[in-house]
Amino acid sequence: MKSCRELLIKCRKALLISLALNLVLLIALIVSLAIPSKAVTEQNSQSSFVPDVTIQSPFIPTVTPCSSETVVEYESLGEFKVTAYCPCVKCCGIWSADHPSRIGTDYIQKTASGTIPKAGHTVAADISVLPYGTVIIIDGHEYTVEDRGGAVDGNSIDIFFESHQDALNWGVQYKTIYIKGDK
Ligand SMILES: [Zn+2]
Repeated sequence: MKSCRELLIKCRKALLISLALNLVLLIALIVSLAIPSKAVTEQNSQSSFVPDVTIQSPFIPTVTPCSSETVVEYESLGEFKVTAYCPCVKCCGIWSADHPSRIGTDYIQKTASGTIPKAGHTVAADISVLPYGTVIIIDGHEYTVEDRGGAVDGNSIDIFFESHQDALNWGVQYKTIYIKGDK
């Protein structure tokens, strides 16, 4: 019985020692594995990420502008009443260069914001709804709010045309107006 107990104690001691040794070995192994693997991953990440960036960067300007400008950045403002005007007295009254009070003077007809109106570019709007400089999109074409008018209020737009006939041809239309997201 005595020898058996002694043997048991010896066994336990041996087990504990071997366990401790195993633990030390394991820790040593983990440490030795962790350090070089870290170095390797760092090297890998440096060498493999650099070409990744250079591969991606030439693709970004060619792919994202198309999709983000046409899909993401345009925001619908809903339906607007879209009328048309030209520089004539009928359309602009005393602001027209053809108005009797202007003839013979050095008056230059400008928009209410001070720009020279251009067909295909200038529109008048209610500037409390769309301030000067706002770029709006009608039928896929960009116009800039540069003018205003007494009859142009709320959800209405007046497009500038060079001739009265062009303005008449436009008439009155109802269009969905878009603005760029960064209005
Ligand atoms: Zn006119």
